[in-house]
Amino acid sequence: MSPRRIAPEGVTGIVDRARATLFGVAVGDALGATTEFMTPAGIRDRYGVLREIVGGGWLKLSPGQVTDDTEMTLCVARGIVCSRRWDPGPIADRFAHWLSGNPADVGATCRRGIEEYIEKGRIEAPPDEKGAGNGAAMRVAPVALYTLGDEGLLSRLAVEQARITHNHPLSDAACETVGTMIQRGLLGAPPRDLMAAEEELVARHPEFRSEGYDGNSSAYVVDTLRTVFDALFSTDTFEECVVKTVNRGGDADTTGSIAGAIAGARYGVASIPQRWLQALAPDLREELSALAEELVRKSPLFAGSSPR
Ligand code: MN
Ligand code: MN
Repeated sequence: MSPRRIAPEGVTGIVDRARATLFGVAVGDALGATTEFMTPAGIRDRYGVLREIVGGGWLKLSPGQVTDDTEMTLCVARGIVCSRRWDPGPIADRFAHWLSGNPADVGATCRRGIEEYIEKGRIEAPPDEKGAGNGAAMRVAPVALYTLGDEGLLSRLAVEQARITHNHPLSDAACETVGTMIQRGLLGAPPRDLMAAEEELVARHPEFRSEGYDGNSSAYVVDTLRTVFDALFSTDTFEECVVKTVNRGGDADTTGSIAGAIAGARYGVASIPQRWLQALAPDLREELSALAEELVRKSPLFAGSSPR
């Protein structure tokens, strides 16, 4: 329980930015899926600068269709909301159900972790030196909403959700940092407080430093976060941040999702281009909106100060 009280306009603002966080995951995914695995030069030749949700890409998606990044985020959000208290089990159950439906795309580390959960009930993957992919960081946003007001709790639960499939110090640290940036954005912190989260990460793992970014946008979580940080700290709108991110190509739907989540928390729903929100399926939009509000209303920041 937090002793803090939130003014009503503060509540409205935080709920709005929480919605924008989950919308950001989905629009970043839908936009970036078009350029996933492309090179920047290939994107330029084909699209100039990609700023419209047009579908296609290697998965041949319809415009507005989302992929594993959004689907796994939904599993995390639904798993949290359905439980009376924190429990990774319902999240893993939803991952298992999702995998059984043969999704269009699943990362190799995610698949292995979920299969081990199904076969052995193992809720925590064993340490894996190849486990530094971005598949845990891409789905951490709901945990940031749910633990708003307590960065220590965020760190613990972000790692617990990550370990269902990924057990690597760089993945763990990335999940904590993405979650921290989302939380600071939700609370209306200035950009320097988000940059401070990068500095805190770099102090532990210098390879994440985004200064001198080399343009590599791969599924290695270090490349992923450097791509996101570079775009986040060199732009000042939601649209420019996500556009810059996905036009790097590489793992563009995942970098787009993470950039979208942080930028959504920072800038709010009104900053997300209407044409992008309209491209999403209405039932997806409605569910993301409802889940975002439920998650922050369960958070330590709200639990003590807001009617349930
Ligand atoms: Mn994807
Ligand atoms: Mn991806």
